[in-house]
Amino acid sequence: MSETIFGKIIRGEIPANIVYEDDLCLAFKDVAPQAPTHILVIPKKPITSIDGADDEDQSILGHLLLTVKKVASQANLTNGYRVVINNGNDGGQTVNHLHLHILGDRQMKWPPG
Ligand code: 5GP
Repeated sequence: MSETIFGKIIRGEIPANIVYEDDLCLAFKDVAPQAPTHILVIPKKPITSIDGADDEDQSILGHLLLTVKKVASQANLTNGYRVVINNGNDGGQTVNHLHLHILGDRQMKWPPG
């Protein structure tokens, strides 16, 4: 397992603007926001990506989605929001630790870039 910047955030070795934490996951503001609200939800377990998840990760994957809902509510995204998981090179993934983007407080477009 290669080390990532998100592993350092989980261990408190580098700062992050943390908005939610429980035993299994962490949510913090993206350092380069692509929307007025841009929060990342990550598992504490170092799962590299959706492709890197195993059958045994089923409950943590469900927990991450329910945490997205909780964090979005906490952020008052009552008018909707977008959830994005970039996977691998073509997916635009740049950090090899699974993360769910919550983007809100602006109108999203489709198709995405
Ligand atoms: P990806 O492109 O892999 O889906 O998304 C990685 C995200 O992590 C990017 O939106 C990027 O801005 C964010 N990011 C990268 N390094 C840091 C960091 O050190 N702190 C925070 N808060 N976000 C980061």
